[in-house]
This record gives sequence, structure tokens and C-alpha cells, in this order.
Amino acid sequence: MSRYIATRAIRGANALVTEAELMLNKALAEKGPDTPVAFPNTAYYLPLIFGMTNIEVETLGQLQGVLQHARELLHPMPADQKWTPYLGETLDSGMATLLAAETIEAIRFVYGLQPESLPGIELAGGTSYSNNGGNGMVGHLNGPIDDIQLRSWGIQLVDGRMPGFAAIVGAAKSNEVAVKIVRELQRRNILTFLSGNVNGRSIIHQLQEEGVELGYDTYTVPFGTDTISAIYALGFATRSALTFGGIKAGQARNILLYNKERVFAFVLALGEVDDLKYAAAAGAINFGFPVIADTVIPEILPTGVTTYEHVVSMPFNEIEGADDLERAERLVQKCIEIRGVKVKIANVPVPVPYGSAFEGEVVRRADMRVEFGGKRSRCFEYLRMVDMDKVTDGKVEVVGPGFRDLAPGASIDMGIVVEVAGRQMQSDFEPVLERQIHYFVNGASGIQHIGQRDIAWIRISNGATDKGFDLEHFGKILHARFHDDFGAIVDKVQVTIYTDPAKIEEWLGRAREAYDFRNKRLEDLTDTNVDTFFSCTLCQSFAPDHVCIVSPERLGLCGAYNWLDCKASFSINPTGPNQPIKLGKPVDLDKGYWEGTNDYAQIGSHGSVQEVAMYSIMENPMTACGCFECIVMLIPEANGVMVVSREDTSMTPAGMTFSTLAGMAGGGLQTPGVMGVGKYYLISPKFISADGGFKRVVWMSSVLKESMADELRAAAEREGDPDLIEKIADERSVGTVDDLLAWLEEHNHPALAMEMMF
Ligand code: SF4
Ligand code: ZN
Repeated sequence: MSRYIATRAIRGANALVTEAELMLNKALAEKGPDTPVAFPNTAYYLPLIFGMTNIEVETLGQLQGVLQHARELLHPMPADQKWTPYLGETLDSGMATLLAAETIEAIRFVYGLQPESLPGIELAGGTSYSNNGGNGMVGHLNGPIDDIQLRSWGIQLVDGRMPGFAAIVGAAKSNEVAVKIVRELQRRNILTFLSGNVNGRSIIHQLQEEGVELGYDTYTVPFGTDTISAIYALGFATRSALTFGGIKAGQARNILLYNKERVFAFVLALGEVDDLKYAAAAGAINFGFPVIADTVIPEILPTGVTTYEHVVSMPFNEIEGADDLERAERLVQKCIEIRGVKVKIANVPVPVPYGSAFEGEVVRRADMRVEFGGKRSRCFEYLRMVDMDKVTDGKVEVVGPGFRDLAPGASIDMGIVVEVAGRQMQSDFEPVLERQIHYFVNGASGIQHIGQRDIAWIRISNGATDKGFDLEHFGKILHARFHDDFGAIVDKVQVTIYTDPAKIEEWLGRAREAYDFRNKRLEDLTDTNVDTFFSCTLCQSFAPDHVCIVSPERLGLCGAYNWLDCKASFSINPTGPNQPIKLGKPVDLDKGYWEGTNDYAQIGSHGSVQEVAMYSIMENPMTACGCFECIVMLIPEANGVMVVSREDTSMTPAGMTFSTLAGMAGGGLQTPGVMGVGKYYLISPKFISADGGFKRVVWMSSVLKESMADELRAAAEREGDPDLIEKIADERSVGTVDDLLAWLEEHNHPALAMEMMF
């Protein structure tokens, strides 16, 4: 343990706790102890404080207790002659720093100083306060991550698409290096949090100047231009443990261990490291997150307890490499090695950067070179299985004219036909693979893909065109990715891109026949027509006791895995997270109990669940991890249930927002009356069929009503009440139980006449 680091961290912690105390005293005098304090859109109060101390901070006054605790953790500075190890003191100081930092940010929220405003910033993705309106001159940085975003990243964190996160603090040697570092992280799908500055200059400024898109959608989240805002990264880490790990607030040690063992994260300190940065680094080390600095600082090397370094110095100019860009690349590689982040990158031969971090990229009309589909043209994609000898692996053919001779912004027809062959391939897997086209194509920087089947819509940006991206590259991407991700069932892949009108006509006809055939197949695929369901335990890396049981009529609660997906996944990886569950003897077909599913529920949940009713919310409902698309919850007064979408941040009639409800639904516990579900389960004939089915829905987020209008209408007709959707209230009309009851009376909702739910 370095005495130098201990000294500086302890000094930094003392200073920050003192600063927090002064700020709090001032705020208490000016605003009063009862002034509400909160981070936006989270059910975890001030998350780090909540996790570490179990204090549910809701007012300024409560922060006094937090700072007292922080002060108790402080230690005197090491004396010059003292040579004992200081790790314990350093870690305590780190924790005190984190408590003080979160307190300071909370006070800044009270004064409207968070999230920080920054001229000209515009964030990509659903942050609630990015301000693109007005004359667009001043926007806000992200500030803390909201619960909804945390959970929607959850699934990617658990299935490995997102291997971990990097908290970058400071500023890079040059703008060019800043961009390179972020691109290297994006390429590996590592979530990147940005904060801090060196002499007033932050990596956020550097990236902004270079036009790098920041925000949730590009995995690059700017917290603030000071070091204190890095606290949001640790608030995120704390909530990961609470949300996915089933750990309770106040179990500080477990939260820290959870992060050390399961969350692959590291801190990259760019530029000079001051006392506060040392203190914050000591905070990160508590979580097991190593700190890598690109300057000369003393190191903390592995001790008996840890297998990797805590603090590593990698002076930028001493890194081997032909130029700064190569040095930046090496620096990122080193960070990944130290923390042991598991990274999988597909090697995709295209002239633009490639990785999931680009999936969310938007190509605006002004940046668009050409588009296929959308309002002004037609685009379809079709994947089919053919005999081995009908496919030449790696063959990519473009049939018809290219787009380079067209005027910028043109819109033309295109069809993408993928033909695959493989000994383990089955025609049931065609739709599973075809759906991947969306993700695969979207991974290319400068390409935007929306929709599927014959409503696909693809844009190529000017930037990508300038770098040489052409139609054949769609084929290259698909060939590489299908081999990479589905190598166990796909041996050969051949892609044809059609822009020739006659050929498009011909193939679109074939594709539509196949879509119809698949729709029929899905309709016939009911729970009673199969003898096997599938488990999904993918989320156990985060929610150790949760298992989804996936049946043809009930998909996984994240919406990402239906029965066919699980079947394909089992073929690809027979020892993987999707195992067949033989149903065996039925126990109660109305409620959805079989011997096989009950046995599996016990084993899969490690004994924490005894039985699962597939079709009931009231009796032994399925558990949830945290990735659910919607929450279904009993409203006893209304004799029905409400359905809240993850995208809905409004207040529900239950008096709670999605974020708060999510805390009740998740964590792998059975909670009768509350259930996390995939949104397509809502339209299944088996949707809480034991409790009365779809007619029980009395309230539903309007975003669901709008985005699934056709499907919901079909479900209403099937239930014999074609006008049901109009009878269901939403947040636009109803915000309380009283409003809800009045609405249901007025609209004569069927739930009022149904038998009591319990
Ligand atoms: Fe997680 Fe369930 Fe989705 Fe599997 S199906 S990834 S367990 S939420
Ligand atoms: Zn999950």
C-alpha cells in the first residue's frame, strides 16, 4: 500500500466531507430541513447512501446523519514516520468521499444545479432533461442514470452483450485521443460514463467538440464536468446490486462484493490526479473497481485478497505505439486486461466502426445519403433455410443498381435475402435468425435499421458512404455475424441484395408467403400443442434465484426470448441458459401447473420458489429479475389489474411510478398481485387466464395502447368485447384509484361485473 496514495486520499476525503458539511449547513439555513431531496426517476432514494447505510433520504435534514457517518469514517493523515499499511484507512476515506459526493449532488439538485447545463449539448436517447427545444443553445448533461435505463441495460449486462462499464474521469491528451478511447470502448460495447476535468477541460468537452454523439443510445453517458459527478457511476453500481442481485439496502459489504465479483467495471483517470480524484478512486476500490491512470502515480498492486491491481499507472507518452491513436488503443486494452472484462467482438469486414454501441445511432434526414423503406420506398428482409449444396458460403451478390449515382437523400427499394444452411438448422429457426438482421445491420456506425420483414427501413449516412460503405457490406455484416453468433446451427451463409425492381417483386412475393406460413405456425403453436417448455436462467448472473419459464403462449418477461428463441438457443448451446422442461403430468391446466414445471421451478430457483402458476398473478406468480417490459399489478378496488410500461414515467393509480413498482416486482421473489411480463404476453390467450384474462385490464400506459393498437384490438375481439381498449383507462385520463373507479363506471368496464379477484 502506498503511503503517498493514502495521504492524498485521506486529505481529499477530509476536504470533501468538510465541503459537504458547509454546503449542507448553508442549504439548511436557506431552505429548511424539510426541503425534499431526490434524484429524478429512481426508487432508490440517493442510491449509494441508501445501499450503504439504508437511510431513505427524502429531506435535507436527513443528510446530516449521512455526513456524520462520513465524518466518522475519516482518519487522520498518516504521520511521516509511520510505515504501517493504510489500506483500511484509505478505503474508509474512499467511502466517506462517496457519501459526501452524493450529498453534494443531492444539494445541487435542490438548487437546480444538477444535471449540469452545458451549451450546445444534445443527448441521444431517452434522458428526461436533455433540452433540444427552444433555440437549442443550452442543454443538460445526463446526471444520474434513471432506474428505467438501468433495467433496460440489465438484459444486455446479463447476456454479455454489454460486458461492463468504464468510468472515465478527466480529459485526454488531445481531442483525437478522447475520441479514440471512446470508440475503442464502444467497439467492445462497454458502457462509458464521463465526468471530471483537468484545469477546467473535460473529456465531455473534447467529445462534444468532435461531434461524438453522447447519451444513453450510444452507451456514452456524460455525468458532469467535475469529479464529484463520478458518484453517479457508483450509484449505478449500487443499484445493480439492489436491482439484480436481490441484495437489501444496508448490506454494504454484500453490495461491494457483488460488484467486485459480477460487475466488470474500471475507472480510467485521464490527466493529472488531484487529492479529490485520489479520494474518489479509493471509493471505487471499495467496489473492487481498479483505477488506471494515464499519468505517473504510485501503484497499488495485488495483495492476498485481490487478484488484480487496484491502482495502475500507465503514463500515456510511455505506452508503446506508433502514434497517440495506437497508444490510446493500448491503454483501453490494458484496462480491460486488468479488470478481466470479458469482451467478444465480432470481426466484421466493413469500412465503418462496428459494435452494439452503434445500435442506437440515429441517422437524421439531413445526414442521410440514401434510404430504403419508410414512407417513400419499400424494403424487406427474408431469411430462409436451403439445402447445403444450394449455398456458397460467404457469397454476397448485389442484383440491380447501386445508390452512388443517385441524388443525395434518395429513397429506393431494396430486398435483403439471406440463405443459410446447416446440419443443425431447422425451419423453425428461420424467424429467430431473421430477427437478428435488425441488430446485426444496426451495429454498423452510420447505418440505421428499423422494423423487420417487409416493413424494414434502413438509412445509410453521408459519413458511412464517404468511408466506403456500400450495399455489399450488408451481406458482409450478415455473413460474419451469423457465423459468429449462430455458428452452432449455421454452416453456410449467402446473401443477395436486390435493387432490381422485377427481382424485388419476385422475392417479395416469396417472402410474404413465408411470413404468412410462419404466422400460421405461430398461431398453431399453443401451450397445449407442445410437451416441452423452456427455462431461461440468463438473468441469474444478476438475479441469482430468478428463472423465466417460457412457453409458446408466454414469452420471457424481457420480451427478448420466446419459445422458438429458447428452442434455437438450446440447439446452439445445449448446456446454456435455455433448457427444455418436459411438462410431464398436468396438475392444474387452468392455473398452469405441471409436475415438470413445478420441479423445475424449485431447482431453477435454488429452492426459493416451490411452485409456479403459468397463468395466474394471484397464486404463485412467476418471479421477475428486473428486465420486464411491463408490470402488471392488482388494483383491488377495481377488481382488475393495471399494466404499466417501462417507458411510462407518469404516476399510476396505485400511487407509484414504474420505478417504484419495479422495486416490488423484481428481485426473484414471488409477490402475489405483482408481476413483471413481456408486453406480448398481454395479448396471449393465456394472459392471467386463471384470473379472468385480458378483460381484467382496467388501466394501461397509453404508450402500449398506441404501439400495440392492432394486436390489442385483436385480443379484445378474441375476448368477445371489441371495444374493450376504449374502456381501459390510461395516464392521460386517470391518475388515482378514485378517478379510475369513476372511469370504469362511466365506460361500463367488464371487470366491474366479473367475480371478485380474491
Ligand atoms: Fe432474463 Fe427471463 Fe429474459 Fe431470460 S427470458 S433473459 S431470464 S428476463
Ligand atoms: Zn432479467
